[in-house]
Amino acid sequence: MTTSKRPIAVITGGSRGIGRAVAVALARQGWDISLSYVSDAAAAVETVAQVQAAGGQALAVRADMASREDIRQLFADTMKTFGQLDALINNAGVVGQPRSILDADDEHLTAVFRTNVLGSFFCASEAARLMSTQRGGKGGSIVNMSSAAARHGGMPQEAHYAASKGAIDSFTLALSKELPPHGIRVNAVRPGLINTQIHDIHGGQDLISKVGPTVPLGRAGQAEEVAEVVAFLAGPLSSYVHGTLVDVSGGR
Ligand code: NAP
Repeated sequence: MTTSKRPIAVITGGSRGIGRAVAVALARQGWDISLSYVSDAAAAVETVAQVQAAGGQALAVRADMASREDIRQLFADTMKTFGQLDALINNAGVVGQPRSILDADDEHLTAVFRTNVLGSFFCASEAARLMSTQRGGKGGSIVNMSSAAARHGGMPQEAHYAASKGAIDSFTLALSKELPPHGIRVNAVRPGLINTQIHDIHGGQDLISKVGPTVPLGRAGQAEEVAEVVAFLAGPLSSYVHGTLVDVSGGR
């Protein structure tokens, strides 16, 4: 175990897309990173290299956010390696196959809600216990990854996704009332259309080319444009920002 003087962030789904960009942005600001992935080990290895190039240390842990046991292991491995925790970026998320509400089924809904909602709850629980000033921690911050879909309803046939992110908004507001006595700030970021592989499930680059020009700023966003806001909310520069849902959506 190394007890680092640098702050430590757990970033769920930190291996690709927005999570990777957050890992690099935080490393540039002096953080070390523990990131989770579930299937793409090569992407996780590449992100570890990018964090190191940005001056940080990184640990990649294969941990499915749909599994309570994997989540426990992610935080145990983080503490074993770094000995402390200063922020949780609750970022891992999936869209799920587009599906009409007329065809709602248990397995489909459960898969999306387990990762997007239950995973975020269990990660926040683990992180809050470790960071709580009432339990020997130093306090810290939680940044939850919501979506603009939480307020505009999302793409057609994706009520499951929009509703899972609506739950993240409510969760953020509830935690912002519960966690201050533990020294923990809580905020959420609501990205709009961001150019990552998450869109492969419903059209990929075709969808981004079609929807991008309808965004008030006239284009899709880049992962790095979300990451800078997340990094700000995670760190001390946002010390009086709490219980906010920050849109990073180009005006959409
Ligand atoms: P992405 O490019 O598809 O990356 C998803 C990341 O999450 C990957 O690192 C992936 O790991 C990981 N992941 C997925 N399911 C997981 C699971 N069950 N357990 C652990 N890790 C898992 O997605 P993104 O666009 O960066 O999205 C990141 C977050 O932003 C999500 O919560 C998403 O809902 C939200 N968001 C994105 C957009 C957008 O337009 N891109 C807009 C609004 C909100 P593997 O590679 O190993 O699968």
